[in-house]
Amino acid sequence: MIGNGMAGMRTIEELLKLAPDAYDITIFGAEPFGNYNRIMLSPVLAGEKTIDEIMINDLQWYKNNNITLHANKTVVEINRAEKKVIAEDGTFESYDRLLIATGSNPFMLPVPGGKLSGVIGFRDIHDVDTMLDSAKTKKKAVVIGAGLLGLEAANGLKLQGMDVTVVHIMDCLMERQLDKPAAKLLQSELESRGIKFLLDARTQEILGDDHVSRIRFADGAEIEADLVVMAVGIRPNFELAQKADLECDRGIVVSETMLSSDPSVYSVGECVQFEEHTYGLVAPLFDMAKVCASQLADIDHKHYVHTETSTKLKVSGVDLFSAGIINGNEATDDIIFQDPANGVYKKIILQDHKIVGVVLYGDTFDGSWYFELLREATDVSEMRSHLLFGQAHLGDSGHGGVNDAIAAMSDDAEICGCNGVTKGCVTKAIIEKGLQTLDEVRAHTKASASCGSCTGLVEQVLAHTLGADYSDSPSEKPVCKCTDYTHDDVRKAITEQKLTSLKALMNAMEWRTVDGCASCRPALNYYLIAAWPGKVEDDYRSRFINERIHANIQKDGTYSVIPRIWGGVTTADELRTIADVADKYEIPTVKITGGQRIDLLGVKKEDLPAVWGDLNKGGMISGHAYSKGLRTVKTCVGQEWCRFGTQKSMQMGIELEKMTWGSWTPAKFKIAVSGCPRNCAEATIKDFGVVAVDSGWELHIAGNGGIKVRVTDLLCKVKTEDEVREYCGAFMQVYREEAHYLERTAHWVERIGLPYVKQRIVEDSEGRKALNKRFLESQVYAQVDPWAERASEGVDAHEFVALTQINKQQ
Ligand SMILES: Cc1cc2nc3c(=O)[nH]c(=O)nc-3n(C[C@H](O)[C@H](O)[C@H](O)COP(=O)(O)OP(=O)(O)OC[C@H]3O[C@@H](n4cnc5c(N)ncnc54)[C@H](O)[C@@H]3O)c2cc1C
Ligand code: SF4
Repeated sequence: MIGNGMAGMRTIEELLKLAPDAYDITIFGAEPFGNYNRIMLSPVLAGEKTIDEIMINDLQWYKNNNITLHANKTVVEINRAEKKVIAEDGTFESYDRLLIATGSNPFMLPVPGGKLSGVIGFRDIHDVDTMLDSAKTKKKAVVIGAGLLGLEAANGLKLQGMDVTVVHIMDCLMERQLDKPAAKLLQSELESRGIKFLLDARTQEILGDDHVSRIRFADGAEIEADLVVMAVGIRPNFELAQKADLECDRGIVVSETMLSSDPSVYSVGECVQFEEHTYGLVAPLFDMAKVCASQLADIDHKHYVHTETSTKLKVSGVDLFSAGIINGNEATDDIIFQDPANGVYKKIILQDHKIVGVVLYGDTFDGSWYFELLREATDVSEMRSHLLFGQAHLGDSGHGGVNDAIAAMSDDAEICGCNGVTKGCVTKAIIEKGLQTLDEVRAHTKASASCGSCTGLVEQVLAHTLGADYSDSPSEKPVCKCTDYTHDDVRKAITEQKLTSLKALMNAMEWRTVDGCASCRPALNYYLIAAWPGKVEDDYRSRFINERIHANIQKDGTYSVIPRIWGGVTTADELRTIADVADKYEIPTVKITGGQRIDLLGVKKEDLPAVWGDLNKGGMISGHAYSKGLRTVKTCVGQEWCRFGTQKSMQMGIELEKMTWGSWTPAKFKIAVSGCPRNCAEATIKDFGVVAVDSGWELHIAGNGGIKVRVTDLLCKVKTEDEVREYCGAFMQVYREEAHYLERTAHWVERIGLPYVKQRIVEDSEGRKALNKRFLESQVYAQVDPWAERASEGVDAHEFVALTQINKQQ
């Protein structure tokens, strides 16, 4: 094989699986390494990975598999008559079958000065080394080209401390993958990280004596440059094949069996042309590898079919997804959602009721689902009205979280675009092979083993499949890819080093990314506010949308508003207030919830502050039905009305709710109080359940009524109402202080064990009192009604501007 890169080596790996002894394999590679994950050069440049970490097959792997690797040897001739290949240094090998996988070369602009030292492409380890060396001694970097590669290079160089300008000939970034609104959001995000842009700029000449010093543009303007990275495109590397008289056009022409015009010579990767297509992303190349291996192994005889690809940018903290066409036309309908204040933009382009293009910025969770619909040309007319809100919002209550979204994904949904791995394949491997960790899933399925952008999704499938058994130990695992530190390390650092802001925390823990990402920011923000109540400002940008807006977004884009109804007990006045609000704002649905409250469904975003203002006037505050905090306290009628009741459960529930409302917890937290063991309030599937008995109260913890029901563990029995309150406060506080963000009490207690909780709450009475005290102290700062702040004080007013939802892009 000529070319020791990603497509060629994937072919060899597939071949070894199918027919390990079919060939004596010899490989020539122009680079002096084993096979590495070229895609991950961007994270290496950004300082997020090391070269060792991106090696796929090191030199030992070739030995173990009896493969001869001629590393650092460039083939200069293919002698088809004698069936041999010859390298620059004279090394030669004969072949029965030859595979050409020479990839692409970066296209270098043919401008004067283009060959000066300091002018490079971005293709291999050598280029990354050059950039890292430059960053140590030089200041000004210019990247020509604002495509995927150019922006990843710019981001990496900026993180290495260089002053970076991106020069682009067009008037917006990534014009082949993004439409203008999404490109604008991307540009402002990158500008906020200090990267400068020069758009509409045609490079005319690169100036310097030996080394580049300036760039001149067509309009005569000039900028300084110590390093120029050209990222203006790639060209298939087929010169060798052309010299050997193989049929070539824009690449080595191959059939659907990956055969070239010579029946002994195959070709895969970016060097090929299939029909009218050439390639620049790995997903189709890995398909080619499977086809080629099956042909070489003489098993299964697959045929290659060209398919669409999707694009993601590997810049930490920037979520971007695009597939298919990006700009609509006369024949298409564009469905658009824009929320510029929150940096979210989604566009779906439909033609004949089918998705033909997707552009997502800021929220890319449903990218793979849209891509599946696009590739399968699914008729989406029935789901059109809620398509934008994602798969989890199809036909359910609209409160779907990540878990619901994973549950809603079909088994055929592609999780890992690079390697073509579906959700079904990951789930099957987890169940059949008993996989427990991300690394095990990677090793068995290759999901998330290439560009890594689906890592979060694979982890979610793992968590969803294993349910309570998923213990890929938040305790052992780094918080996210921005750090190697675990959740516990972070919590410890916050208290020990007295860190009181996101910035200080990220600096102290040497976060790899400037601003963190969507996984770590909410967690860090929570840990800070939990550790330093009243001292740390809540960073609202780090909260999920429902928490930012203090209402639950519904599948049609309206909101649900649930006022607090203490202990599920209401009054005629409260009901009148709710009825008046429903009439005044033409709220279409008023619904009793499972948590004994009243849900106003269908509220327009711009009406939210006024609706809250009117509810406030009627004495009602937010029910926090959207928060990672105390939700409801459900009660039965208890001794007050029921002939079986042994204690006053309504009264107890109201008191508990008055004590705990407003508290932020790692995940949502529910309480219930039943007046006797008949347990009509279902207290034994709540996070904290109280069941009255003749002699006092039973306290139960860590129940869950979700997809996987978990019945509570009995914590202890207590005699007095004061004790119920004290134990409740102490339990909530130890959970707040020690659980990991998003960890429900059920998972937390299973992880740390019931004996530990008993020791902290039941056996250590001083400790319990101290925990309860800390809980009550933090409640002083937490019990602020967010609705009142927004209704009367104009807090976050920009959040309540109407969504722009238009059918045609202007
Ligand atoms: C920085 C960067 C980021 C990228 N990010 C993504 C991404 O996020 N997603 C994605 O899908 N794709 C991405 N890509 C593209 C992806 O890396 C390529 O599609 C893939 O590597 C192509 O595989 P290949 O085997 O065809 O070529 P290569 O991986 O380039 O391998 C070709 C090999 O052949 C060797 N060779 C060439 N000529 C000879 C010769 N005459 N003799 C011996 N050896 C020779 C070369 O040295 C090279 O090692 C990225 C690429 C780069 C450079
Ligand atoms: S739990 Fe007991 S007290 Fe409460 S309503 Fe049911 S039977 Fe009555």
